[in-house]
Amino acid sequence: MAEQVLVTLDGELRDPDAPLLRADDLAAVRGDGVFETVLIRDGAPCTIELHLARLCNSAAALDLPAPDVEAWRIAIAIAIDEWGANREGAMRLVYSRGRESGGEPTAYLTIGPVAPRVVAARRDGLSVCTLERGYSVDLAATAPWQLLGAKTLSYATNMAALRHAHASGADDVIFTSSEGLVLEGPRSTVLIARGRTLITPPVEHGILPGTTQQALFQVAGTHRFRCEMAALRPADLIAADGLWLLSSVTLAARVHTLDGLPLPAPEIADELSGLVDLAVGTVGAEADAA
Ligand code: PLP
Repeated sequence: MAEQVLVTLDGELRDPDAPLLRADDLAAVRGDGVFETVLIRDGAPCTIELHLARLCNSAAALDLPAPDVEAWRIAIAIAIDEWGANREGAMRLVYSRGRESGGEPTAYLTIGPVAPRVVAARRDGLSVCTLERGYSVDLAATAPWQLLGAKTLSYATNMAALRHAHASGADDVIFTSSEGLVLEGPRSTVLIARGRTLITPPVEHGILPGTTQQALFQVAGTHRFRCEMAALRPADLIAADGLWLLSSVTLAARVHTLDGLPLPAPEIADELSGLVDLAVGTVGAEADAA
């Protein structure tokens, strides 16, 4: 069984250990491109329609040529066929502006194993620290060149924030705005529960629209939950009946400690993680769109 699968957008299976990018690819030298990370479960790409839609939105924000969605679907099917149906995988779609010297965009996808940290976060939850992002929630509207709602390849700041958290003993981060409002994690969406109301910060505040949160909100109403987008402060996270970081591969990681403060286990912990599992297995599947 392959430990890593690599497929280029022309549908060609490549050797995952062989070089692929040119030295002047703008992905490598500028982080000038977009990506998606998708969970593979039971031989299917979870919430793939939401991911492909976000890939197109991110590409549009960067003035990249519109992604050839049908070609992506075919390449994804080839990669999953190679990966197999009996194990989870983490798939990454990468779409960059291509070489600095010109030519076509670069487009490929990989599938690899789900990282051990993901397995640990699902099982044990996370300790999280809040860190300032340094910008206002107004910035997305006033400075579109900041690309705040796009999933660009420029994640160096996010990774630096995670290293900063690790150095202080935390597993993950929740960013706050210059007004002190809750934004998102470096690779996740923030979700709280107040009773049976699920609340996440508004995407207008300059955060990435999360596919996991969107899938959850699509099914939660039929499971006696109310869903809202609302401005949150760190104090709201502490006072909540549950706090999670949602993301495509980890799914729902419960935050058990925030800024050193232990948070009680939510009554709905198992129900919420079951609902996220259900949501990503059903919402935005290919059959859904057919
Ligand atoms: N916010 C950021 C900055 C992210 O990198 C991610 C992960 O991709 C998310 C939110 C959560 O999005 P999703 O649920 O689509 O993985």
